[in-house]
Amino acid sequence: MRIRGGVATAVGRVRERNEDAFLVQDPVFAVADGMGGHRGGNVASALALETLGSFRLPDQGAAEALVEDIKKANERVMEQGESNRDLRGMGTTLTAVVREDAKAHIAHVGDSRAYLMRDNNLQQLTLDHTLVQQMVAEGRISPQEAGHHPQRSILTRALGVEDGLDVDVLTMDVHPGDRVLLCTDGLTSLIEDGSILRVLEEEPEPQSAADRLVREANNAGGDDNITVIVLDFDRQDGGVPITGSETAPAPSVTSPSAPPDGEPAGNREALTTKVSAPPREEAWPQAQRARPRRAKPGGKRGAWRWRRGLILLVALIVAAVTGIRLFADRQWYVGDSGGRVAIFNGIPTKLLGLRLHHVVETTDLSAARAEQLQPWRDLHDGINANSLREARTIVEQIRQDLSTPGSGGGG
Ligand code: MG
Repeated sequence: MRIRGGVATAVGRVRERNEDAFLVQDPVFAVADGMGGHRGGNVASALALETLGSFRLPDQGAAEALVEDIKKANERVMEQGESNRDLRGMGTTLTAVVREDAKAHIAHVGDSRAYLMRDNNLQQLTLDHTLVQQMVAEGRISPQEAGHHPQRSILTRALGVEDGLDVDVLTMDVHPGDRVLLCTDGLTSLIEDGSILRVLEEEPEPQSAADRLVREANNAGGDDNITVIVLDFDRQDGGVPITGSETAPAPSVTSPSAPPDGEPAGNREALTTKVSAPPREEAWPQAQRARPRRAKPGGKRGAWRWRRGLILLVALIVAAVTGIRLFADRQWYVGDSGGRVAIFNGIPTKLLGLRLHHVVETTDLSAARAEQLQPWRDLHDGINANSLREARTIVEQIRQDLSTPGSGGGG
């Protein structure tokens, strides 16, 4: 099957440097989004893709071979991160596609994404390894909320963090006319899937599609580095044909044009060191939890681990508080506010000194009198309701009970 493609990358409008990298080396195509202080981010993404650049299609087991190479890349990023003081704590996402005849193998770690456009539908092929994705999976927040969640960049998996990295891999049959998009979160955090689909539909040339996606993310704020690869399978309308032969791979992708902001683009340039951006506040809570090694106080390495542990702990607490607050926002209860029966939004407790509730409606009903009635004696602890409406029903019930002669009360 023939393939044509386009690639574009941009530093964006906020970051100083581009820590994204891409690899376009038929049969392997990949994007990586590096992170880590100093120059760590772009070293991590470049190193990972450089390692993947030596991928060769085996006679059998291409998907497994791809996963193996990504694990190798993980080890290299870890080694570099541990042996070089400036690079400590660096990590990277990696989303790769390897084509093999009429199949594509997609491997993925982190929050960069692969999409498939087929028959004018856009399907996300990868699931983000992020805390908010986990919250979506657990039904705690909606996918819409996830898109704007303040903790959306907290990764639960990344290269460079732990041994024995878990790599998601998917093999799919490619149909003529399929278009595969690889991108970093600089695109997807700003552009909705619907808009991505529209651009992909409106731009038949893969290079124009890649350029325009980057441009639109920049126009939408460009608050992160943006990298996009668009791959078209078996288009009939010319372009650079690629033979399916593994022995004589032809250049698979039209050469990248300069991105809108003048950031140098191109296969090798992207893989060599670009200066790094300010560190993203990233953490890998799951990965860290899975890593039982303890910090050795005193050693440089220990000191670093300790510091990273602390950062992770803070990130976990922030995430937990955010999660609980999101949860609390949907809870209602009837309780005592200054001696009056009142409706609260939230949960009747405090967390780390944060009050997780506020009064929504107060009434003229005495809380003390209500508590003397058997059904409402726990009023000051809060009587839970599933909605504001339900809370109002409870208040009405209290009102009725209090006005019923002989119901006790008397306070
Ligand atoms: Mg990014």
